[in-house]
Amino acid sequence: MNAVDATSRSVEADTGAPPSLLTVILDTNPHAWNLLSPSLPLHKALASLLVFLNAHLAINPANQVAVLASHVERSEWLYPTPPSKSGGDTDMLDGGPVQQPSDDANKYRPFAAVERAITTNLQALLATTTPANLSSTPTTMTAGALTLALSHTSKLAASGPTSTQSAQTTAFNYSDPNSNTSDSRGAAPSTLGSLTSRVLILSASPDNSAQYIPTMNAIFAAQRLGIPIDVLTLASASTFLQQAADATGGIHLARTTPASHAGLLQTLMLGFLPDPTARQNLILPAQASGSGAGGVDFRAACFCHRRIVDVGFVCSICLSIFCEPVPDGTCLTCGSHLALASYGRKPAVVPRKKKKRKRATTEANGVETPGSAGGTPAPA
Ligand SMILES: [Zn+2]
Ligand SMILES: [Zn+2]
Repeated sequence: MNAVDATSRSVEADTGAPPSLLTVILDTNPHAWNLLSPSLPLHKALASLLVFLNAHLAINPANQVAVLASHVERSEWLYPTPPSKSGGDTDMLDGGPVQQPSDDANKYRPFAAVERAITTNLQALLATTTPANLSSTPTTMTAGALTLALSHTSKLAASGPTSTQSAQTTAFNYSDPNSNTSDSRGAAPSTLGSLTSRVLILSASPDNSAQYIPTMNAIFAAQRLGIPIDVLTLASASTFLQQAADATGGIHLARTTPASHAGLLQTLMLGFLPDPTARQNLILPAQASGSGAGGVDFRAACFCHRRIVDVGFVCSICLSIFCEPVPDGTCLTCGSHLALASYGRKPAVVPRKKKKRKRATTEANGVETPGSAGGTPAPA
């Protein structure tokens, strides 16, 4: 009979998957989509993307999506609709203002809301793009869109009551309600609480090396928050986005051929729909462009001309990168005086590499050199 006593009741722990936020950054650069249009027009890519977003929403009813357009001169929200655009004072966190219900009674309401908001906002964005906007820059605002995505994720995680509430309920002791009211078991373990979040960038534009510093800052912020950045490249390979995926533990896939463009939906569903936990047990689809997982391009852009450099000079104080020796030996970023005279025009990295290779070959041949005995032995 003790079993019916209230004190022995146990609360069933919430074993379901935590809600997941998927933020998609869609590159809407008209220059890039014009080049892609023979094999992949924007409306086809958008249709595939909507199916992908619906699949994410269908996995878990608590899942959320957010979509940003990385345009030529600015980054804009496609979903949820920002309050300033809709004229209402509704907060963005609850999905924006109430959308008119779809005429199609057979469509699941959240799918219809996402589709309507994205198509309406994208049409408005393209309609307000003037030829002057297009001529000002040929590339896209990835850094701005990434920053918006990260701030939205942080805001959502900070305000999300669902995750922390459920964690506190499971930690509540009915036998002794006062025992753990100040217990920190219900507290969020990571910076973002139990809301899992990831970012997917659909990239169609080449790198803008002028955005190197803000892009890298956004990547490091994402790395610190534990948000993986997935990248799907549809046109030319992007050095910065490869590094973004590598640094944050995301997936980078390049699908640049017309044949792979035809399978965009398949790539999205098989490569990017599984969450980071499920990915541990899955094998990533093979790279179509030939560059394997180890082929990350780690080159950086110099801080002086924003050129992507293979070998450069690094300030020993602030780690700024320069393509050539700085004038007067003064760092352009921090102003520290650097001793450069002994290195001449060539960076120090080149002679050191040559020396190592030489020693390795002489040791392999069994020839003893006077320098090899005193040198640090190479780790086995
Ligand atoms: Zn430079
Ligand atoms: Zn410096």
